[in-house]
Amino acid sequence: MENMLKSQVRGNLVVISGPSGAGKGSIIQEILKDNLNVWLSISMTSRKSRDGEVNGREYYFVTREEFEEGIKNQELLEYTEYSGNYYGTPRGKINEHLQSGQDVILEIEIEGALKIKELVKGALFIFIMPPNMKELKRRLENRKTETQDKVMMRFKRAYQEINEVTKYNYVVVNDELKNAVNKVKSILLAERCRVDRIEEIYIGNQEELLHESLVDNKNIVNLENKI
Ligand code: 5GP
Repeated sequence: MENMLKSQVRGNLVVISGPSGAGKGSIIQEILKDNLNVWLSISMTSRKSRDGEVNGREYYFVTREEFEEGIKNQELLEYTEYSGNYYGTPRGKINEHLQSGQDVILEIEIEGALKIKELVKGALFIFIMPPNMKELKRRLENRKTETQDKVMMRFKRAYQEINEVTKYNYVVVNDELKNAVNKVKSILLAERCRVDRIEEIYIGNQEELLHESLVDNKNIVNLENKI
């Protein structure tokens, strides 16, 4: 029997932003473990890799010159300069993954998010908030990967970014990782059920179905008579 709903096969383009230290990365890693048919786009950056980061896993780490070459060759869907370094989304395989039905996640800051909003109709925007600013500062300082100046720069930028939250569709507070992950997952799943993703509804032939149900009823009556 035919399925009732024929929905768009194309996945959603999902932009996840939030101040540095809000925990976007940890939330996304948990979601990827869950086999929800989600693909994470790996950005290109000219920032130096931190201890434990692997080229091609967290980022494609390149020099400023290589990054500028990428801009010139139009290899990037969007890019920005943040805290003195370039960051950008390679066009690469995004479309391919969307077409195969996977949701594609871009973990990018607000300027890039706004560019995607202009470029991609129907993209989805989720903002991850820290529980409060004191906790954000604590998380940034605890990372110990950045100089004190850079920590302060990221902290100041967090204030600006939080002011832009109304430009997003959803906001999730990362007070406890498990709660935040569940909320983001729920958003992804709910978005796949949107009515505007339905292309066709198949409800079959009413007469035929009525006939079938009458036959079923008759069987029940017969069965009852036998008992
Ligand atoms: P971090 O240095 O902490 O890894 O990243 C700094 C900021 O750059 C984060 O807010 C992160 O979301 C953002 N970012 C990472 N990749 C991209 C990208 O491809 N494009 C843009 N616009 N921002 C990015």
